[in-house]
Amino acid sequence: MDLMEKIVSLCKRRGFVYPGSEIYGGLSNTWDFGPFGLALRKNIKALWWREFVEKEENILGLDGGIILSPRVWEASGHVENFTDPLVECKSCHTRFRADQLGDTKKCPDCGGQLSEPRRFNGMFRTTVGATEDSNAVVYLRPETAQAIFINFKNIVDSFHPKLPFGIAQIGKAFRNEITAGNFIFRDIEFEQHELEYFLPEAIWEEKYDYWLAKMHDFAKLIGLAPEMVHEREHSPQERSHYSKKTVDLEFDFPFGRKELWGLAYRTDYDLRNHSEKSGVDLKYEGSFPHVIEPSMGVDRTMLAVLCSAYFEDEKRVVLKLQPSLAPYKVAVFPLVANKEELVGKARGIYEKLKKSFMTAWDDRGNIGKRYLSQDEIGTPWCVTVDYQTLEDDTVTIRDRNTTRQERIKVANLETWIKERLV
Ligand code: ATP
Repeated sequence: MDLMEKIVSLCKRRGFVYPGSEIYGGLSNTWDFGPFGLALRKNIKALWWREFVEKEENILGLDGGIILSPRVWEASGHVENFTDPLVECKSCHTRFRADQLGDTKKCPDCGGQLSEPRRFNGMFRTTVGATEDSNAVVYLRPETAQAIFINFKNIVDSFHPKLPFGIAQIGKAFRNEITAGNFIFRDIEFEQHELEYFLPEAIWEEKYDYWLAKMHDFAKLIGLAPEMVHEREHSPQERSHYSKKTVDLEFDFPFGRKELWGLAYRTDYDLRNHSEKSGVDLKYEGSFPHVIEPSMGVDRTMLAVLCSAYFEDEKRVVLKLQPSLAPYKVAVFPLVANKEELVGKARGIYEKLKKSFMTAWDDRGNIGKRYLSQDEIGTPWCVTVDYQTLEDDTVTIRDRNTTRQERIKVANLETWIKERLV
């Protein structure tokens, strides 16, 4: 099994990621997140929000809708430009993105002849209302950003922030990808963390560098090795229709070096267009603010985190997750399950720790198996209540990465964990 297969299999077995609609034979490129996947994503998103919103000055949050007026996507240029060049094999009918195939005119799967490329819009369409006439066509948003631009005036009217300031959002986005795949790297329904940072044009370069550095810092914070994260600037041909400069942060995934996150300088493109098309004046402090946009997919972040954390040797499989991201921070075990005093004491510790941390309880099998089980889901510390606990109120605490144990006072447990929870 290669590394990706091992990760996919661990994710399914241990309740991180399940294939979508599996009991009906599955639906390609859709995934459901189990209890631990949900916890890991929640922790990633909370950390992002802390770093990009709460620790910054002048960043406000928004939770905009998934379905917006179709006029939004006309004004933003997505109806016209959010397209990929699609080619189809005339023999096996597999579809590819022409820009990802290079110069070849042959199907990479069967060698058949490829069709001429045609433009394929990546937005999902649906209809609103009881009739299916064309007036009722709406799109599922392919990025969260537009809800921010169309609420720009609402936010400035309520908060009167001074430029530069930002509006941040975390939410679902949908893209009808021609070639999805590689587990949760490219799915058709995913989540994004996005920040639109509004500023006077004169300072865009300085702020661009600031947010780029911040993205590198975030990569370190979630446990990605800096030597596996690379900057790649888009050529003018490759850039999105709204961007004047885009740098991708690419990550060395097991299947190659690929885009993890993007940082775009969107200029005043969006506010200017929405102003023109809506007739509502979106100028602020005398002109259209310019925009720097860090756009960071939750799913790709989660995959990079899992790939970085996965470790195995002949004895065990371990997810060496940053403690702040781990689903459980600590697990509590009685040494044996059939000694009432041990179980009672351990339950007391479990119930107390549970008030402060996500805490697991396990009294099945033997201690060794319980350690291995927690290692696989990335629990940083395991606390064992043994006979000595009953005498001197100390427990052993085992470190996931080193497997070393130390003995500490029960009274100090909470502080001990808090000090190490980064
Ligand atoms: P790609 O070139 O890989 O298709 P993109 O350049 O279209 O990506 P952006 O439009 O810059 O992606 O989207 C911002 C971020 O959203 C990406 O950096 C990525 O983290 C995430 N993202 C985009 N498309 C997907 C997808 N289909 N599945 C999962 N995450 C995605």
